[in-house]
Amino acid sequence: MKRDEDGIRQAVKQAYTLYGKAEGGKNADYIPYLAGVPSDLAAVAVVTHEGGIFAQGDVHYRFAIESISKVCSLALALEDVGTQKVQEKIGAEPTGLPFNSVIALELHEGKPLSPLVNAGAIATVSLVKAKNREERWQRILDMQQKLMSMDVALSEDVNDSEQNTNFHNRAIAWLLYAAGSMYCDPMEACDVYTRQCSTLVNTLELATLGATLAARGVNPLTLKHVLSSENISCILAEMMMEGLYVRSGDWAYMVGLPAKSGVGGGLVAVVPGVMGIAAFSPPLDEAGNSVRAQKMVASVAAQLGYNLFSVA
Ligand code: GLN
Repeated sequence: MKRDEDGIRQAVKQAYTLYGKAEGGKNADYIPYLAGVPSDLAAVAVVTHEGGIFAQGDVHYRFAIESISKVCSLALALEDVGTQKVQEKIGAEPTGLPFNSVIALELHEGKPLSPLVNAGAIATVSLVKAKNREERWQRILDMQQKLMSMDVALSEDVNDSEQNTNFHNRAIAWLLYAAGSMYCDPMEACDVYTRQCSTLVNTLELATLGATLAARGVNPLTLKHVLSSENISCILAEMMMEGLYVRSGDWAYMVGLPAKSGVGGGLVAVVPGVMGIAAFSPPLDEAGNSVRAQKMVASVAAQLGYNLFSVA
């Protein structure tokens, strides 16, 4: 196990060299903006709980956060309403179905099961305390910035692209409403959810999100305490169960770290108490997870000997 600075630097470099150009997958295209992002971009980064930064590749390239935003809104909802209510109203089970599945919702009487699939994420947005739509959005953006960096901001281009094509998510919001699982106006929740997916982040900021979760809620770059440490085990449990959708089980089996992906090509994993490991590259597998990012994050974790289930 090589956990010193040189070891981390070497692991990150090796992961990028081995997998930064790996073949396979294709950009998401159901959101027009994502289809146009250059497929050869790739980056990998580690931010440690002490604020050490290690990175390789296109680390400053800003890409759409997409589903990784679900982790930030879950964090805010947990702060607002507590762990019991989130478990009761949203859930903590893997759905075993694609991230935008309507069938998953129908099979469980309108309970979304996980805050990390679209239905659960839209319901989570509706649980956040807010007097109106703008306050709901500002509080969620503020949480993304606290967990990552003040440079995280909405992209009008991504947002327009998503708002003009998010009919499926609007249908999910109305189904949640019909089932009694929606806690604000459904179109407000869908609008704010769509905006939260449309912020731009870079791979370093994504690793910072992982590091903040790893460091008991203290952002190691700003040194601000932004989350209650009691909620973090629940966030990590949700990530372990559903962070990579129908690949979450394979990921747990192979890598053994809580993680979350987005269809923008980002992926972040958490080594509790130690570091965040993030990677980015647009081409996705069938489940919607970046092919290269999975390989790069898995490689860094394996080289450093981090797997929560390891007894070695
Ligand atoms: N905005 C995307 C959607 O709602 C996010 C999906 C994802 O990253 N898996 O479909």
